[in-house]
Amino acid sequence: MTIVKLDGVTKEYAGEVVALRGVDLGVEAGEMVAIIGPSGSGKSTLLHMIGTLDRPTAGRVEVAGHDVARLSDRELSALRARHIGFVFQQFHLAAGVSALDNVADGLLYSGVPLRERRERARAALERVGLGHRTRHRPHQMSGGEQQRVAVARAVAGEPDLLLADEPTGNLDSAAGAGVLALLAELNAAGTTIAIITHDAEVAAAAPRRVRVRDGLIVADERGAR
Ligand code: ADP
Repeated sequence: MTIVKLDGVTKEYAGEVVALRGVDLGVEAGEMVAIIGPSGSGKSTLLHMIGTLDRPTAGRVEVAGHDVARLSDRELSALRARHIGFVFQQFHLAAGVSALDNVADGLLYSGVPLRERRERARAALERVGLGHRTRHRPHQMSGGEQQRVAVARAVAGEPDLLLADEPTGNLDSAAGAGVLALLAELNAAGTTIAIITHDAEVAAAAPRRVRVRDGLIVADERGAR
């Protein structure tokens, strides 16, 4: 099953900045792809396209079989809530809220009742190795633990795609390696993952590496390196 399909995707920002110049990219279920490139190459823009956070100027974006252009903003939000889990460099956890509720609140738009949201949140925290930290609030956890909570929140709804934007960018190398190992583990268990990164180690860990430069895909490599 194809999870993401980009055909000739171009994105031009105001001021005639062309961030993407006709990108074709497919991601199949079960893949773990690193999207790599220097600063300004168009990685974040590509993430916005894949994550349906913004619409292309030209070309077609399909996520989980839905043509993004045919959906209203409201339908797009629903598509994101159902199909995509996001992890960002800055964990984006709610301050003063327990790990459990940070994860459970990620399921707010799923229509699942509170009790079940909490059960799923607990299971997700266990999956990321934080079953013993459910009551901790973000300031009581290390950066690596906070990012694990963010990963738990992203996967609690069992999305078709986990989209991570520089997930190790704010972590020291040991914590970063831990989060990377966690992502690899989730992938081995079936989660489809796309990671935007400029970190060579993160890239090297991915079975597929898509290189972006000046708004174009310049390489698409598979296999260990
Ligand atoms: P990366 O994530 O690889 O650093 P970006 O996708 O952020 O690259 O940026 C690609 C190009 O688009 C850059 O030239 C950047 O300055 C430009 N750009 C990104 N976002 C905007 C925006 N909202 N408005 C105008 N230009 C933008």
